[in-house]
Amino acid sequence: MTDRYYTDHPITGPKARLAGAEAHHLLHVMRAKPGEAIVLFDGSGAEFIARVEAAGRNEVELTVLERHEVDRELPRPLTLGVSLPKGDRQRWLVEKAVELGLSRLVPLVTARSVAQPVDKALERLRRVVVEASKQCGRNRLMEIGNPLDWRRFVHDTQTERWLAHPAHDRAIPIASFLRNLPSGDVSLAVGPEGGFTDDEIAIAVASGWQIVDLGPRILRVETAALVLLGLAGLSR
Ligand code: SAH
Repeated sequence: MTDRYYTDHPITGPKARLAGAEAHHLLHVMRAKPGEAIVLFDGSGAEFIARVEAAGRNEVELTVLERHEVDRELPRPLTLGVSLPKGDRQRWLVEKAVELGLSRLVPLVTARSVAQPVDKALERLRRVVVEASKQCGRNRLMEIGNPLDWRRFVHDTQTERWLAHPAHDRAIPIASFLRNLPSGDVSLAVGPEGGFTDDEIAIAVASGWQIVDLGPRILRVETAALVLLGLAGLSR
């Protein structure tokens, strides 16, 4: 994949502009010069070939030469509600979720959650989304929703819904989960390191969520999340 740059201003005309971290990357890391062509994306689904016109200290003016609709999204939109782990593991999970094509990640507030993401942390995670999208070629940004209380997430989610929970007598093995995947939107949920409480499971089951089992070993939050969305995303 060639070097790609992200602008949060929708590209609608013949001009584009990069500022901040993206301009810094282009000017001071890649040392681009006027006349060079680069790839731009604005999160709308298209990518653009653009020529560097003028470089200021921390901004770059570009002329848009070509627009291409390049779809690198999954065949079905996936939402993942997850009780995020802390620090680096949280950022790693977000990076891999972008690579695997997740459409929307919702940080969950559950009884045993360890990290309650504040605005600053969410902003950092949104920057991870941009970096991962640049690297993996996605032209749509994975959305990071505002944190939701478990009860709210469970009730607000109207798509086909599956939560991962180990050793539950109503759990369905992963193979049946994959066989039963619908072609439309799917929502998935993964609990905190301490697991979902019995109450949380009961609330979800009562409103139509199904339970999926990921095997006899207990997986870390990020492993459970990635195996679930990797398999759901790649199977048709
Ligand atoms: N001690 C907790 C384990 C939590 S692991 C418990 O017994 O519930 C963190 C999260 O990863 C869980 O809430 C669940 O969503 C998911 N998970 C981990 N291993 C799993 C497995 N074998 N099957 C289904 N879900 C699993």
